[in-house]
Amino acid sequence: MPKTLFKVDLTKPMYEQELPGHNRWHPDIPAVVSVNPGDVFRIECKDWTDGQIKNDDNPDDIRDVELTVVHVLSGPIYVNGAQPGDILVVDLLDIGALPGDEWGFTGIFARENGGGFLVDHYPTAAKAIWDLEGIYTKSRHIPGVRFAGIPHPGLIGCAPSHELLSKWNQREAELVATAPDRVPPLAALPNPQNAILGTLPQSEFERVAAEAARTVPPREHGGNCDIKNLSKGSRIYFPVYVEGAKLSMGDIHFSQGDGEISFCGAIEMSGYIDLHVDLIKGGVEKYGLVNPIFKPGPVEPRYSEYLVFEGISVDEFSGKQYYLDAHVAYRRACLNAIEYLKKFGYTGEQAYLLLSCAPVEGRVSGIVDIPNACCTLALPTEIFDRPILPV
Ligand code: ZN
Repeated sequence: MPKTLFKVDLTKPMYEQELPGHNRWHPDIPAVVSVNPGDVFRIECKDWTDGQIKNDDNPDDIRDVELTVVHVLSGPIYVNGAQPGDILVVDLLDIGALPGDEWGFTGIFARENGGGFLVDHYPTAAKAIWDLEGIYTKSRHIPGVRFAGIPHPGLIGCAPSHELLSKWNQREAELVATAPDRVPPLAALPNPQNAILGTLPQSEFERVAAEAARTVPPREHGGNCDIKNLSKGSRIYFPVYVEGAKLSMGDIHFSQGDGEISFCGAIEMSGYIDLHVDLIKGGVEKYGLVNPIFKPGPVEPRYSEYLVFEGISVDEFSGKQYYLDAHVAYRRACLNAIEYLKKFGYTGEQAYLLLSCAPVEGRVSGIVDIPNACCTLALPTEIFDRPILPV
């Protein structure tokens, strides 16, 4: 077992950990550990909500979750020798649950908390608890399914530079200003409330908390990409923006479907990640990197049979035609899959939760055939304990 450089005590909130992590992005958040290129090491992570969700049957904790706390991240990790313009090569050597904490949760967020992809259809909170049994999982809240996980960090990335951070803040503020009264807002702007900034000195807290970016969206550094295929054995190439790279991670998922549609939509868990890091000097310019690139690992569940649901860019409310809108088309594909699963005894909420966290494949299948985008959602049929094809 590699040396654990960042440990978490699950009985304590992130700000009380021996080495506190952080829940905002800012270049001035000090690194808590340092490694050399070539090192192999273990990082432990809390679940993304910092332990707010309980292993019980009551979804009130999902409804009442305090979102200014998220995502709690482990790090930053200083990589000796890393300079802006380098590529940080990160191998995810292993990912797993922490001993004694082998469970996870999937939630539908209430509209007041940002909602999910189908918030207009499912505006109230719901929760499913998943028991992790080695590589498999099942839920007492969604009977009749069992599947192998594809564990991955939902969130991993390097710190932004001051310049990049102010670019983020400017463009996101401009977006929010286009609909200032909207619930939920169009983006999550900096918010000092419940900010955790690692070991930053108190004298700098106010300034940094007011500037630091929220962790909600994916951005140029990676961040909250929620890509299920960043699983065991993946190699990720991150652009480095600050000296030491300052790598952080968290939001570990045991499994997730493409799109993570219910927003708290993976099987969220605490866990560990074993990593190996290296550097490609000057790699950003050499390879033209704008966002991270990655090579998926060789260890993924092997499902070979799928039932695929199509969706087109015509909305479900008024039948309005949209022009090549993949957002509308994927929503229609998801809704079509949910309606189908209802015929097999699932509630809409159960089907929504399942599509969000099971290993479903989402595709932009056609994006040029005016006026309809065509998106597809492929549901592995082998996860069900009975046949689900039309006969
Ligand atoms: Zn997550």
